[in-house]
Amino acid sequence: MAKKEEVAAKAQKLMSQTNLIRNIGVIAHIDHGKSTLTDSLVAASGLMSEELAGEQLVMDFYILEQERGITINAANISLVYAYEGKDHLINVIDTPGHVDFGGDVIRAMRAVDGVIIVVDAAEGPMPQTETVIRQALKENCQPVLFINKVDRLINELQLGPEEMQKKLIEVINKVNKLIKANAPPQFKEEWMVNVEQGKVAFGTALYKWAISIPQMKKTGITFKDIYDYCKEGKQKELSKKIPLYIPLMEMIITHLPNPKKAQAYRTKEIWKGDLESPVGKGMLTCDGDAPLAMMVTAVTNDKHAGEVATGRVYSGTLKKGLKVRMVGSQKDVVIQQVNLYMGPDRVSVENVSAGNIAAVIGLKDAYAGETVGYDEGMTLFESFKSKVEPVITVSVEAKNTKDLPKLVEVLRQITKADPNVRITINQETGEHLVSGMGELHLEITEYRIQVDNKVPITTSPPIVVYHETISEESPSLLGKSPNKHNHFKMHAEPLEKEMLEKIKDSGIQGRIRKKDIEIVSKLQEMGFGQEGSKKIWCVHNNNLLIDGTRGIQALHEIKELVIEAFEDAMNAGPLASEKCEGVVIRLEDAKLHEDSIHRGPAQVLPAITRTIFACMLSAKPLLMEPKQKLFISIPQDYMGEVGKELNQRRAQIDEINTEGDQNTVIAVAPVRDLIGFSNAIRGATQGRAIWTAEFFKYEPLPPQLQQPVRTEIRKRKGMDTEVKSAE
Ligand code: GDP
Repeated sequence: MAKKEEVAAKAQKLMSQTNLIRNIGVIAHIDHGKSTLTDSLVAASGLMSEELAGEQLVMDFYILEQERGITINAANISLVYAYEGKDHLINVIDTPGHVDFGGDVIRAMRAVDGVIIVVDAAEGPMPQTETVIRQALKENCQPVLFINKVDRLINELQLGPEEMQKKLIEVINKVNKLIKANAPPQFKEEWMVNVEQGKVAFGTALYKWAISIPQMKKTGITFKDIYDYCKEGKQKELSKKIPLYIPLMEMIITHLPNPKKAQAYRTKEIWKGDLESPVGKGMLTCDGDAPLAMMVTAVTNDKHAGEVATGRVYSGTLKKGLKVRMVGSQKDVVIQQVNLYMGPDRVSVENVSAGNIAAVIGLKDAYAGETVGYDEGMTLFESFKSKVEPVITVSVEAKNTKDLPKLVEVLRQITKADPNVRITINQETGEHLVSGMGELHLEITEYRIQVDNKVPITTSPPIVVYHETISEESPSLLGKSPNKHNHFKMHAEPLEKEMLEKIKDSGIQGRIRKKDIEIVSKLQEMGFGQEGSKKIWCVHNNNLLIDGTRGIQALHEIKELVIEAFEDAMNAGPLASEKCEGVVIRLEDAKLHEDSIHRGPAQVLPAITRTIFACMLSAKPLLMEPKQKLFISIPQDYMGEVGKELNQRRAQIDEINTEGDQNTVIAVAPVRDLIGFSNAIRGATQGRAIWTAEFFKYEPLPPQLQQPVRTEIRKRKGMDTEVKSAE
């Protein structure tokens, strides 16, 4: 790869000519061929020999990825490609295919303006294809389609030319249906992938040939020719005639937007600042001379350079020595180095201007999502819209006590790079609790600690994160403060399912003040009524605190304390000290001591928490468990084994699709029973099962498990095994 400096120098020259730039992501269901495809694109720019492309997998440089053969981190590369005699700069991000890392896909979409959807011709769009298409469109990224593994249709499935054509059309129609359903309204028609226009190419990333209608016209190669070449085992010759990268690059360059075009419609979606301000105008017009605006989309740690923040420059130019402001964390820093990505390597360049993806050294303590700008008035970028919840936890300890400070630092780095990992400290034991989105997510986090950062650790068996809720309305109960001078009457009720979903979708969280007009009107729209919305004091973890009192003197003086106690109660409920969800607490009446000395925190906090607990305990409380949706793709011969594995795990099979010899099973299963599934299914199917999982939802534990699980959690937390009402 000695040519990387040369490519970087060319890229540097092109950087300010926004009409010659494309920022694109490659998205797909796991194993549909993203990485193989990206390699061939890299080869096209001369960074890698064409011969090697497809075998080398430059983008999958993370060792674990190579071992498992899956893409975990979104990796970046900048390519220079000459189209119609003009060099173009193509910044490509290869995104992860495993859904446990869904957050990474969403973050990557912020950096790019267009995507290549890769679909395996034999399998067709899979549920995961749907998810990534939805994510890309939600972020306003325009798609084109590459139907991969066409060789399989001919050589494996033995389809005739007509059946093959039918199959391809089926794939295109399915993808268009998804685009139509999810694209921003103004682009629903324009963004459909039209074959005639050349927004679809098909071929094989492995054998490195591809074709599109415009390329058929240009080369005179027909559908039948392609079929014959494949049938006769002459794919190598075909790849000389119609190399993969030609239709792909043509598709990217002619159909996906350049950053200037894209920023004109994307800016208002990702940034709520003043569009008339200099930086607002700079973003709308992708102006390298305007004030700086960059959004960090990933943070990685480099052994030599330290923290590397990758992101999209929307306005202005990044240069070494430039003083910038990290707006979220309110820090001023000096940029030490500006780099371009060349796969696993970074190459230092003079500057990176608006419309490009850069790697920056010097943004100390940046996190994925941070806004980088010049001045103090800069508005933050909108946060990433991801709906992922950590559902499983392990506690980790350094094997050698002397490594503890290093472990703390490594954990800090990991949460910055992957905001879907949450770290908490168990106050009693001092252990670090690492929570993630699934068992595999945690395995990879452990790997990052032990192997990448060389901190030997011991980890506990995984613990599932449960939630508490209530299933009926409680009576009104009266609680007294320890000094008996303050009385609170309240009652608890379950938040209606539909309302709960609305609250979750809205992302409303925290104390609501009179001046938060926007939030109040959002609540009104949801159906809490004009008056009702004003009485909601706080939304915490999808639980509501409502003030139902009338004319109580001095209540406003203790309002903050009531909210604090409510938040505490919702963070650790009465059943097993787990988070609560879907609970409405209504304060109905209060009698307060005249003297504020007798209604301080020591009186109010315990009175409120205890009364909330008492209400919840008399409202049929329940433990809820997280469930995941599994997508398992498996050869027919192993269906029995997969069925057996699922049966043992309280799984409910929703759908079985058969496509040739391949079955796809869609099932929902509790995380509790999925522990160890990864190994079990690998063993049972000799590694032939390909599967992914995504968060489904929390549902009540079955009645027979309520008590045993509650006892198990309480024991683990060192609590009394019996639940006692505090009142
Ligand atoms: P990713 O998970 O989407 O990045 O998929 P990879 O690029 O790692 O490819 C998954 C598997 O499919 C690998 O074993 C590839 O060799 C194989 N593969 C990729 N492209 C093709 C193709 O065009 N034809 C065939 N038959 N196999 C392919």
